[in-house]
Amino acid sequence: MLEPVTLPGGIAALVSTDFRSAGFLAAFTERPGGVSDGPFATLNLGLRAGDDPARAAENRKRAATALGLASFAVVRQVHGATRFRVDRERAGAGFADPGDAMGAGDALFTDEPNLGIAILTADCVPVALADPETGRLAAIHAGWRGVAAGVIADTLREFDDPRRILAAVGPAIGPDHYEVGEEVVNAVGAVTTGGPVVQPGGPKPRLDLPGTIARTLSEAGVRRIESASLCTACHPDRFFSHRRDGVTGRQALIAARSG
Ligand SMILES: [Zn+2]
Repeated sequence: MLEPVTLPGGIAALVSTDFRSAGFLAAFTERPGGVSDGPFATLNLGLRAGDDPARAAENRKRAATALGLASFAVVRQVHGATRFRVDRERAGAGFADPGDAMGAGDALFTDEPNLGIAILTADCVPVALADPETGRLAAIHAGWRGVAAGVIADTLREFDDPRRILAAVGPAIGPDHYEVGEEVVNAVGAVTTGGPVVQPGGPKPRLDLPGTIARTLSEAGVRRIESASLCTACHPDRFFSHRRDGVTGRQALIAARSG
């Protein structure tokens, strides 16, 4: 399950108990516990969201420390399907300086213990994958464009056997707040054999992107999938939502293999 926890410093997060039992950390941060204010209150972890960069950097330090990490590596997210392997030399890439991020991409993976990897979201779907047998761990930023570009399937290819994978799908925009055009539904649906998950009713389709991702994982052979089933737009006190607020902060999936 994704367990709500309050970490030192008042930082709130949903932490996967399945990942923890298998020797991994997968934490989805919430808004409390940071130093930012206004639309970025309080734990904005995005250095490029428009917040005071010094505050966002302080928030990153607090979140990493609360989770027992020195730092975490990030990519320059572009809604694509490119992924990066993080090793010791690239520990914490982009953590303090966005210009030092791994590169343009939307997924990171690592085999090494105690190396934090993170992706930032404000509606897009954060997905963690782990193979307890090999110790490989991945974090994926999955918006509709990335899903349509194949970021889920492409990242799964970095793992030997999907049947061993643990997956955690974090808080993201839910179908109740995600009216989209037919072209979006079709683009996302093209990557699943079962088609997109769409909530009926309303003049425009309501896309269930987290549900569609869970279906894609399941079709690929992933058996253990935890889902937060929490809509970012529905919970302004807990999550940033770009669709709800426009100018807003970023929460993060922060993941690591335990030492
Ligand atoms: Zn909602």
